[in-house]
Amino acid sequence: MSKFMERVIFHIDMDAFFASVEQSDNPDLKGRAVIVGGMSGRGVVSAASYEARKQMVHSAMPVFQAKQRCPDGVFVPVRMARYKEVSRNIMEILAGYSPVIEQASIDEAYMDMSGTSRLLGPPWKVGEMIKDSIMSKCSITCSIGIAPNRFLAKIASDMEKPNGLKMILPGDVPGFIAKLPLEKVPGVGEKNLKILRHLGAYKLGDIRGINEQLLLDCVGKFGERLEKLALGRDNTAIVPTKRVKSVSSEATLPEDTKDREILIKYLLTQSEIVGRRLRSKGIKGMTISLKLKWADFKCVTRRVTLNRPVCSSKMIYEHGIRLFDSINMDKRVRLIGISVSNINILDPDMHLTDQLGLFDKTGSEHDIWEVAEETMDSIQERFGRKSISKGGLL
Ligand SMILES: [Mg+2]
Repeated sequence: MSKFMERVIFHIDMDAFFASVEQSDNPDLKGRAVIVGGMSGRGVVSAASYEARKQMVHSAMPVFQAKQRCPDGVFVPVRMARYKEVSRNIMEILAGYSPVIEQASIDEAYMDMSGTSRLLGPPWKVGEMIKDSIMSKCSITCSIGIAPNRFLAKIASDMEKPNGLKMILPGDVPGFIAKLPLEKVPGVGEKNLKILRHLGAYKLGDIRGINEQLLLDCVGKFGERLEKLALGRDNTAIVPTKRVKSVSSEATLPEDTKDREILIKYLLTQSEIVGRRLRSKGIKGMTISLKLKWADFKCVTRRVTLNRPVCSSKMIYEHGIRLFDSINMDKRVRLIGISVSNINILDPDMHLTDQLGLFDKTGSEHDIWEVAEETMDSIQERFGRKSISKGGLL
């Protein structure tokens, strides 16, 4: 690839993500004003569907106010575990198009698509392909911005929302920047906006007319970045988000032991740690492995691959015990650990099974535990680990 070859950066951003997931999981909500938020009187709106936005409901607004503005809206609670799962599926889809994907938040990602056109086709076509696969696999829309750099890709994805596809060609960059309102530039907050207006700058292109020293004096170091952006330059790299291959927890015991009760206790704590970490990342794994290191430093590993991915501490623990009991305990144990691997939740039936919804009472015991544990995770996050005693869960 030539050093001077133009970069091609994609910014992919889901439209009203939480609300769209609710609408795709429950077709009765399609076309209706859906408001996702805290259900208590003091809750705030986490996401509003485009139908709700038309009635002036937007995120961060108190729920009671949203109810006043949108009395016939459908108010649903936040199901973070579900959104993380869909997010994971979306990232899996994107991974089919480029190895260089940086997940910027639960519902957005940057991709470096430089040099892929010979393999995949022109960027515009690839953008359409990505939108189609996200729609067919997850039933939600997204907006994609394509540009020679990161900051322009981000701005472009926002321009034709919802369900937009906007491309800024290298040759169009100077004209685009000349007309780009400063409030659209990432990093320009209320305060800087005021200062820049005082200096006579309303569009990003106007920055070029300001004396460099004056700009730096007024907005500090950010002025340097602004000057580069005003020239259409942003070399910020897309840094691939590392994909988790396995989640594990292990401990060397204070003293070697054959005592099943002691060892099982470790297994319990470790299952809770591993489950919590999986849930916080919104991922699941199919394979559970138990590892023991004997007093003589030799190791034994037992693993089981399930017929569906799990993130429930209870499931991990139960399989862990089964694996443990399959090992002949003729020596004392020095180290015990459990891990969940085979993390790849994009399977074709996934979406169908999940349409049951995690709160569906007809869901399996498995689903119900995952929801229960997710709820406890969030309580612990708010009130500390000790708020729910360890044994309580299992
Ligand atoms: Mg979004």
